[in-house]
Amino acid sequence: MALRQIRTLGDPILEKSCREVTEMTPRLEELIRDMLDTMYDAEGVGLAAPQVGVRRRIVVIDVGEGPIILINPEIKESDGEQTGAEGCLSVPGQAGTVTRPNHVIVRALNEKMEEIEVEGTELLARALCHELDHLDGIMYVTKVEGELYDTVSEDETEEPGGEASAEQTPASEAAALAAQAEVTGKEEKANETGK
Ligand code: ZN
Repeated sequence: MALRQIRTLGDPILEKSCREVTEMTPRLEELIRDMLDTMYDAEGVGLAAPQVGVRRRIVVIDVGEGPIILINPEIKESDGEQTGAEGCLSVPGQAGTVTRPNHVIVRALNEKMEEIEVEGTELLARALCHELDHLDGIMYVTKVEGELYDTVSEDETEEPGGEASAEQTPASEAAALAAQAEVTGKEEKANETGK
């Protein structure tokens, strides 16, 4: 198990666009293994290669249904809307309210460079959008409605203010999750197809 250092907000690599992967190499295989180790160690639900300092279009996601590895991913369809708390391993201890599509279909390659399609709703849709943004140098903090708020609190976490996420997830619960998770939200069934 090899952990990589997670770059944090302010590191210029997080604002750069990443290059496509044209062939799988032992080095990239090792990178993917390390990204999974690093994501699980940090208790996140997703991690993108630039977050560990590599400008390649690779993301890993696990919302509790097993690892999903996406190479050169692209959103093919998106619809619906969800507004809720979101966090990022590159912005530790903070969260904010972000509106995302509630349903997305992503086309990508897997670690064997085979075409796959991943369909997600709720948390998986949010994670897919968040991680794919990383590959274009877009941090979720640029999409936050209102202010970022601290998720680390000894006492009862206060409402972050604003009514946006109230109907989805109790803000305090979401904030507590965001302290450790890459992306927060409700877990929901989602399908991975075309393996
Ligand atoms: Zn992130």
